[in-house]
Amino acid sequence: MLTLPPGVRVFVAIARVDGRKGIDGLSALVRSQFAEDPLSGSMYVFFSRRADRVRVLYWDRDGYPYIHQKRRPVRKLPGLAEQCRMLTEARAEFTWLRNGSVNVQQQALRDFDQAMRNFLAGTHGYPGRRKKYKHEGLRVTDFTFAQHVQRLNRHWGQVQVPKIGWVRFKWSRTVPECKSYRITKDRAGRWHVAFAAIPAPVPAPGTGEVVGIDRGVTITAALSTGEALHCPALTVREKARLRKAQRRAARAPKGAPKDTEYAKAGRIKAREADRRKDWCEKTSTDLARRFDLIRVEDLRIKNMTRKTKPKPDPDQPGAFLPNGARAKAGLNRAILAQGWGLLAQRITDKAPGRVEKVNPRFTSLRCSNCGWIDKNSRQSQAEFMCTNCGFTLNADVNAATNIAAGHAVGTPPSAREPLESAA
Ligand SMILES: [Zn+2]
Repeated sequence: MLTLPPGVRVFVAIARVDGRKGIDGLSALVRSQFAEDPLSGSMYVFFSRRADRVRVLYWDRDGYPYIHQKRRPVRKLPGLAEQCRMLTEARAEFTWLRNGSVNVQQQALRDFDQAMRNFLAGTHGYPGRRKKYKHEGLRVTDFTFAQHVQRLNRHWGQVQVPKIGWVRFKWSRTVPECKSYRITKDRAGRWHVAFAAIPAPVPAPGTGEVVGIDRGVTITAALSTGEALHCPALTVREKARLRKAQRRAARAPKGAPKDTEYAKAGRIKAREADRRKDWCEKTSTDLARRFDLIRVEDLRIKNMTRKTKPKPDPDQPGAFLPNGARAKAGLNRAILAQGWGLLAQRITDKAPGRVEKVNPRFTSLRCSNCGWIDKNSRQSQAEFMCTNCGFTLNADVNAATNIAAGHAVGTPPSAREPLESAA
């Protein structure tokens, strides 16, 4: 599980791990519990109440805390078929369960099965618990499209949901004939119905045109054609309202007053997400229609938006030096707000086989005219002026042109080694 540094003492404690408090709450608990203890080189092992997860907390000789956690299933879970059989038994026993739709219940088990598979494959976290009023939704697969979905007029349609009846919905786009649909509730309290169908890819224009996209914070997407595309954000007033709701939520007493303020904040954030998604959809369709080949940087957004590492104070064990966490958190928020991942994903969906990922190395430092790479060429956030040939261009458009050209092939880095991250 964990290789221990030599000379580390091991303590084993049983603690009730409160899921809501998480690991931060746990480490605070341990710190208070063992305040008298010489912490360096000590280790504590925690088992949760149900013993389905183990958390190990230890300090190295410099007083730097490490947390290692591992969840493991208590026992082997029954498979999907077995769970469905158990569902049948349980339905025979309980009236309230029998009152629900068996198809919907089986689909919930299927979703859970997929979540467990993802967890065991190591790509996803442990499935969370669904909460009433918060995670509402269901999936229906047992229906006949022609019978159970109807169009009422230009703007409205209706769907017959098992055990609920006819539910009207806004006919916002062409509804394809399909075999399953999902009903969800978002954090702004709006209900959605999504009919599952894979749309046909956007046809290529056939002009042979290639475009490069440079994704950034100031300009969301700079194209090699010189266009600057901006993802819409919240207005200044909306941002102020969001901050106000969040501040009031933090100070409000628990219960209804707090929930009301959080709901307000949730509605504003949902609006922001709606705008971002709408922009990503429109932009990706537009790009897929206009260009034959679309090149984007192969960005590791997960890695780029990591938290900063804590910097332990060498003079005071257990204390930490400033590490720029606030500034990085702000940048991360800005990056995530640009919807980079979603844009690239949607372009790939709509133009399958016509998207190429390019190594982002030096794309912002290379001169798109002569290929010279020098960090001094980038004069400021917006300006690029080549130190070799004097070529000038908007820095983001220059980067996009490099991306459109494919790999950054050019003059190898000069004696003054440019910084990869200087941009
Ligand atoms: Zn140049």
